[in-house]
Amino acid sequence: MKIVKKDFHISSKHRNQMIDITSQVSSLVAQSGITNGDVIVYCPHTTAAITINENADPSVMHDILLTLEELLPHHRPGYRHSEGNSDAHCKSSIIGCSEQILIKDKSLELGTWQGIFFCEFDGPRSRRAIVQIRGE
Ligand code: ZN
Repeated sequence: MKIVKKDFHISSKHRNQMIDITSQVSSLVAQSGITNGDVIVYCPHTTAAITINENADPSVMHDILLTLEELLPHHRPGYRHSEGNSDAHCKSSIIGCSEQILIKDKSLELGTWQGIFFCEFDGPRSRRAIVQIRGE
């Protein structure tokens, strides 16, 4: 089994933002020389996350962020963390810091409407995503 590890940078522009990184991940998979296997997309940050959801209608991303904001407001009585970004830490843990996608014939096996998103919850910042591609 071959393993290829890469990373790339992401510049978020808003405090809460979902950035479509499907094309970056697809390109790295295509360049990896791996035909069949899987890829892990990992976010090495405590106030950001990785998720898979619809990338056809941008309203879906808007509605996910709106829902998270309602569940986890930026300021809330009872938060103790002195940085003032407890909501971002909570969102990061709820969404999760990685996704695993299967690779078939050098392509991501995503559904028609699925895309991979880097979720920023404490931007704007310079961020990094790590991709590990495994297979034959
Ligand atoms: Zn913090």
